[in-house]
Amino acid sequence: EFALAKRNTCLRINLDTILNNIGILKMQFSEHTDVIAVIKANAYGHGSVEVARYLSRHGIHHFAVAAPSEGKVLRQAGVTDFIQVRTFIGSVVIKVDSGMSRNGCQPEDLVSLMEFCLENGVHVHSIMTHFSQAWDDPNFTKIQLETFLKAASPYRKRGIKLHAANSAGIIRGFGVDLDFIRPGIAIYGQPLDNMPSTIALYEELGLRPALAWLARPTLIKTLGPGRVVGYDQTYKCKNEEIVATFPVGYADGYNRLLSGKGLITSIYGTPCSVIGRVSMDAITVKLQENIECQDYFILQDDFTSPNSITHVANELKTITYEVCTRLSQRLPRLYI
Ligand code: PLP
Repeated sequence: EFALAKRNTCLRINLDTILNNIGILKMQFSEHTDVIAVIKANAYGHGSVEVARYLSRHGIHHFAVAAPSEGKVLRQAGVTDFIQVRTFIGSVVIKVDSGMSRNGCQPEDLVSLMEFCLENGVHVHSIMTHFSQAWDDPNFTKIQLETFLKAASPYRKRGIKLHAANSAGIIRGFGVDLDFIRPGIAIYGQPLDNMPSTIALYEELGLRPALAWLARPTLIKTLGPGRVVGYDQTYKCKNEEIVATFPVGYADGYNRLLSGKGLITSIYGTPCSVIGRVSMDAITVKLQENIECQDYFILQDDFTSPNSITHVANELKTITYEVCTRLSQRLPRLYI
């Protein structure tokens, strides 16, 4: 409430849902496997410091980020757990390219790289690989896993830990019996695609979205027929219409491509259309009725609403990852 009142908008993040989602993923793998929670890009928009602190208090002590600056933010906030950073500092995690052809050494170069580390006193924490299509190409993922294990298994016998599985790998059961799993998107409860079978699987497993975006109108007006709304006059009222302005825009992560297409929902579930252009700091919405001081969901924390992150990602022809990670730093985050 306080956060919402500060700017009439906030992200509401349920940390317990994130912990619960990790618990569900944990059930998919063997007991000796540990979790590296991927909290890069501000924990996929959820707030890396708060997520890391909460998870650390509940027994998760390994985190992964991409940029060194992301690790620094965590350290400065007092997170003392293991943090894997894509550009290494301290103990290194060595990545093997098993088929994604992005980062990582070629499998055949692992031996010389490990020798180099040994000779130069570099502490190798673990060896990892990353799956490119574990969700929908089991054959290629199987080859990736085999390629990785062929190169890295000898080092496991010498006590070096191995990890491979991202969310898709975990749910599909690839690399889940190694030393760590590295889930990202699934811990935030966001589906990997918009297929009904994916949503059904998430529901069956009990994975739930942890984030909702709420806002309250800053102004409600009744506009007569012929009145135009927003930049470029892209919307003209046909009748007398109730139009509300909300303090969220593309600078907050509400994509401009949703101009005239987006839907938001009242807390009672009524869908309302976003009309006119999305501006940097505001959207205009056609309301069904003039209710002052009612909160609305800009993004809903379920799978089925027209403004769930899954549906919005689909509308934008992108993935849930992008919708989440574009949620701006300037949005107040309310943790429940
Ligand atoms: N491991 C690595 C190396 C990654 O780059 C990522 C994310 O891109 C993850 C794990 C987590 O992936 P996901 O969010 O699909 O679970």
